[in-house]
Order: sequence, then structure tokens, then C-alpha cells
Amino acid sequence: MSSRAVLAIGANIGDRLAALQGAIDLLASSDGVRVGAVSYVYETDPVGGPDQDDFLNAVLLVDTDLDPGDLLAACQAVEHAWHRTRDVRWGPRTLDIDIIAFDEVVSDDPDLTLPHPRAAQRAFVCIPWLDADPEARLPIEGPVAQLLAHLDTEGVRRRSDLQLVVPGAVR
Ligand code: AMP
Repeated sequence: MSSRAVLAIGANIGDRLAALQGAIDLLASSDGVRVGAVSYVYETDPVGGPDQDDFLNAVLLVDTDLDPGDLLAACQAVEHAWHRTRDVRWGPRTLDIDIIAFDEVVSDDPDLTLPHPRAAQRAFVCIPWLDADPEARLPIEGPVAQLLAHLDTEGVRRRSDLQLVVPGAVR
């Protein structure tokens, strides 16, 4: 039986849009993973961490035959493949893929915490997730639209000039 997962993708070094599109293309070609809806692209101020450049972020809905651990492995393979490819020629590139939710699964395993423990506090996750699914609900926390009402959205700017494409999707 197929499961629905929500993935957040982000990049803040180099050709950020190419990194996000590369993530989608590689995920779409991963066994047992089908990419459904993709959000708009957002430019976001970095949250926490060292001084660094702004991110591009987006959210994907995927249908998968994999279990959560195997989906995480597939996401990490995409991160590594992208880093490796880019490292050779252009130097370091960042591509992060987080599993925000996997059906209604709840897990406190540090290797795969579900739902993602910081998703409810991140406008750069909630805003694009609502693009992809206006009815989105975060397990335990509730409707994403209600969560978003309590978040500071100032650092999250929609980039209408940028677009991500799902391979094979009819537009
Ligand atoms: P980061 O460097 O922030 O991308 O974190 C990667 C680490 O977080 C990996 O070791 C994962 O096993 C772990 N992790 C725990 N929960 C999740 C999740 N929901 N999605 C992605 N990685 C996770």
C-alpha cells in the first residue's frame, strides 16, 4: 500500500534552483517514489546557525511504497549524489531534504523523528506545504494553516519568477 510523505527541500549555496530541481528529478527517478504536487519556490532568511546566505525552499508531496527508513535512505542518497556531482566541478553545494511527515507516523527516533520536530515552528515549511496541500495537517500538531497563523512569516518571500517542474507532469 502506498503512503503519502511530505518533504521539505532547501539549498543556500551556488545554483540553488538547480539544486532543488535536481532533488525533484532524482527523487522522481528513485524506486518506489512518485513526486506529486510541488509548491512555489520561496527565498528565506536563514534561521539559526552561522552567518550564511539566504535559502531557496520548497515542499514536495510524494507517494511512496517505501517504509519511512527506506524513504530517508533514498533522500540521503539524493543529497549525496547531488553533493558528489557538484563537488567535482563547482565546489560545495548544499541540498537538504527533510521528511516533514509520513502518513500519521509518530516516532522519536533521533535518526528519523516524525513528524519533523521543528516543522510546526518553520514558516518556510508551513507556507509552501499549504501551496501543495491547502488542507495540510501535521500529525499531533493539527492543521498547518492554524500553525502558520502563529508564525513570523516576514523572512519568507515567494519567488514568482522561479518555478520547479515535476518530471512527466502535464501542465
Ligand atoms: P541535517 O544535517 O539537519 O539535514 O540532519 C540530518 C540528520 O537528521 C540525519 O542524521 C537524519 O537521520 C536525522 N533526522 C532525524 N529526523 C529526520 C527527518 N524527519 N528528516 C530528515 N532527517 C532526519
